[in-house]
Amino acid sequence: MAEVESFTLDHTKVKAPYVRLIAEETGKKGDVIANYDLRFLQPNEKEIPTGAIHTLEHLLADLLRDRLDGIIDVSPFGCRTGFHLITWGTPSSTEVATALTDVLTTIVNETKWEDVQGVDIKSCGNYRDHSLFGAKEYAKLVIEAGISDDPFERNVVK
Ligand SMILES: [Zn+2]
Repeated sequence: MAEVESFTLDHTKVKAPYVRLIAEETGKKGDVIANYDLRFLQPNEKEIPTGAIHTLEHLLADLLRDRLDGIIDVSPFGCRTGFHLITWGTPSSTEVATALTDVLTTIVNETKWEDVQGVDIKSCGNYRDHSLFGAKEYAKLVIEAGISDDPFERNVVK
């Protein structure tokens, strides 16, 4: 059986919201990619409804790229408590948490429906299942709690 790092994490020990570097890998030509756990909600206690996490996915794909270099992908966890972030290179968890805090603050305060990219039938796989209202509500929960750059100790970034 393959060893999957995410399944070795003790989800009862973490304190969300946080950013955690899951792994760094170096390719044959020396390029480094990193995978992060962007945990929005406490595992096994709460989860983001699908419409809200879907709209957050579209918004993070856009807004996080403006604030962090080298983003390859941002994808929701199946458990709906957060997202994977894959990057070229390895920004610090503090840099990622700071950028994410800024993005979520922008979503809460500024984002209008017209600002959400890729939400028509041609560009999305389930264009009917979006909720900007929900995205803003859950973004608000996360920034009110504060995003820690440590998964086990609360060390909220500014
Ligand atoms: Zn979509």
